Amino acid sequence: MITIQGKGASTGVAIGPLYYYQRAKSTIRRYQIDDTEAEWARFKAAQEKAIEQLGELAEKARVEAGDEAAMLFETHQMMAEDMDYEEAIQAAIQEEKHNAEAAVTDTAAQFADMFATMDDPYMQARAADVKDVSNRIIGILTGVVQGGINSPVPVILAADDLAPSETVQLDKSKILGFVTEGGSGSSHTAILARTMGIPAIIGVGSQMKPEYEGREVILDGNTGNVVVEADEATKARLLLKMEEQKKQQELLNQLKGLPNETKDGHQIRVYCNIGSPDDVPAVLKNDAGGVGLFRSEFLYLNCDDYPSEEYQFEAYKKALSDMGGREVVIRTLDIGADKQIGYFNLPHEENPAMGNRALRVCLNRPEIFHTQIRALYRASAFGKLSIMFPMVTSVWEVREAKKMCDRVKKELTEEGIHFDEDVQVGIMIETPAAALVSDRLAKEVDFFSCGTNDLTQYTLACDRQNDDLGRFFNPHHLAVLRELKMVCDNAHKNGIWVGICGELGADLKLTETFLAIGIDELSVSPRAVLPLRQKIRETNVAAVKDKIIADLLSDEGAIVG
Ligand code: PEP
Ligand code: MG
Repeated sequence: MITIQGKGASTGVAIGPLYYYQRAKSTIRRYQIDDTEAEWARFKAAQEKAIEQLGELAEKARVEAGDEAAMLFETHQMMAEDMDYEEAIQAAIQEEKHNAEAAVTDTAAQFADMFATMDDPYMQARAADVKDVSNRIIGILTGVVQGGINSPVPVILAADDLAPSETVQLDKSKILGFVTEGGSGSSHTAILARTMGIPAIIGVGSQMKPEYEGREVILDGNTGNVVVEADEATKARLLLKMEEQKKQQELLNQLKGLPNETKDGHQIRVYCNIGSPDDVPAVLKNDAGGVGLFRSEFLYLNCDDYPSEEYQFEAYKKALSDMGGREVVIRTLDIGADKQIGYFNLPHEENPAMGNRALRVCLNRPEIFHTQIRALYRASAFGKLSIMFPMVTSVWEVREAKKMCDRVKKELTEEGIHFDEDVQVGIMIETPAAALVSDRLAKEVDFFSCGTNDLTQYTLACDRQNDDLGRFFNPHHLAVLRELKMVCDNAHKNGIWVGICGELGADLKLTETFLAIGIDELSVSPRAVLPLRQKIRETNVAAVKDKIIADLLSDEGAIVG
């Protein structure tokens, strides 16, 4: 038996065979070939297979997301058999005697460079396409599964670390749990694991070894403990824990249908955070009142090119109609920092968390923003939509973003397309600047939602991605809590509501504090809804409110700064 200690990032016990995440190798083997005809035939077979796979993907996309989504894969099919592309590969194989993998890699780089230097942004974006198509062909040539799970049974997935784009593309039905060498609890991969309700352990470092692949592993997301080939007693203990958790869940299920009401009759909304319309069943299963944060960027991360208006419209419409009239707050694109997307071709930044991200990208690239806002307003006819802008620091940004909403509403009216006139427009409060000017911002919008992951990062000047900073990254810090109180007061003075959609919202140690300062909504991962409801129902706000507020404001209270 081997015991490994990491950090629990998503609770629950899971048992299954260990599987190492296969990432496409960045270096491919290069060699000179003798039989150029055989090598050319090898390329042609791989090309044909890639075209066939893309055809299947196009059909799947057509069924799930409509014709425009299917077109993306059809374009990739055409690219795979483009004459210039094929001729360049043929020359590399037949004249320069390069092996097929090297020929495809070099041709892809050459074509991608050519596209990237063109003036037209549409043509620039083709650079990512040619790389994507080429990677598929190389994957077929080398037999390396591109970031997939090539196992007939569900597995515990091990990786050095997973980028959000990798996590989002995994087949979730194949994953029982995650173990990663690196990562931090507030990274987007950890957040996704919680949203999907999959137990996860991060930061195991080099203790997890590739030779453990295939062995039975039990992971306990509550303690951060991973056991490889557990002895009988340990296995029995962990399986018992798994059973107990099931029972605890059954008890929590009895809270379904009950209000989120404190002992003294104070009500608060409990909503969910999601990353895709596919998460809606979990929201409904856990009886949340709505969706407080739909991270729309995961749609973009899941695509090989800018998702079209139609593709986005279908996804938003699905989430809204599946929620059956309950509110869905969709956050506009929040990329940058750890959520990088190749086809955006954003220049390298030394300090990406403070760089061109989120609303800044949208305001700098209005054509991308326009497509998303159109898709959102069109979808608003199918449910109760609210729109929210991320990473706001200034009033002018909000005004400019709202102008885009006005432009889209005008266009849709002229085109005779139906939309909801009463869509609420709000912003995330996740920078100290936004908290400090929240009195002014409150006059511009219908609601605030506090993103405590970034608010903590920026307030404490502490990178949320850096697991070495663990004890410095303290969302309970007095500075963060005071900001939340200030934001709440400014929201209420201006008659708007305020929620928390960062991970802190699910922290039961702070539920009393959130109730005391008057937070109106907590938006958490689906599995956190019922434990939160239980905590709310056990609380008497009136009894604790004065003490909590006095402590927050005092120059020597119990909360440590
Ligand atoms: C946050 O910053 O708290 C938030 C909810 O947004 P994200 O975690 O996606 O940055
Ligand atoms: Mg954020």
